[in-house]
Amino acid sequence: MANDCLFCKIAAGQIPADKVYEDDRALVFKDISPQAPTHLLAVPKEHYASVHEIPPEKVETLMGGLTGAVREAVRLTGINEGGYRLVVNSGEIAGQTVKHLHIHVLGGRELAWPPG
Ligand code: AMP
Ligand code: ZN
Repeated sequence: MANDCLFCKIAAGQIPADKVYEDDRALVFKDISPQAPTHLLAVPKEHYASVHEIPPEKVETLMGGLTGAVREAVRLTGINEGGYRLVVNSGEIAGQTVKHLHIHVLGGRELAWPPG
C-alpha cells in the first residue's frame, strides 16, 4: 500500500466506497463524480501508478485480475447488454488525477468518439 494513496485506502477499507465487485486481486466501485449513468472504477489492490510501471513478471497476473473484475462488474450492473467503454488515463497529459492505476468503466448512454 502506498502512503497517501486514495485508492489504496479504499482497497484497504480505510475510506468507504460504493463497491460493485471485489476479489483478492481487484476492486470495482462507483465513481464519486459519475460521467455516465453507470461509471465504475476498477483498481488492482496492488499499487502501481500506471500500466507501464507494472514489473514485467507481474503484468499478466495484475492485468488478468483487473480485467476479470471488470468482466464481473459489467455483468453485475447489466451494462454488458448495451455496451460500455473502458478508459485508462495515464499521466498528466491524459488527465490522470489519482496516481493509482484504474480503469474507468462507462455505460448507460451514447458515448462520443473521439474523446477530448
Ligand atoms: P482520473 O482522472 O482518471 O485519475 O480518475 C480519477 C477518478 O476518481 C475521477 O473520475 C474521480 O471522480 C474519482 N474519484 C475521486 N475520489 C473518489 C472517491 N473517493 N470515490 C470514488 N471515486 C473517486
Ligand atoms: Zn495506491
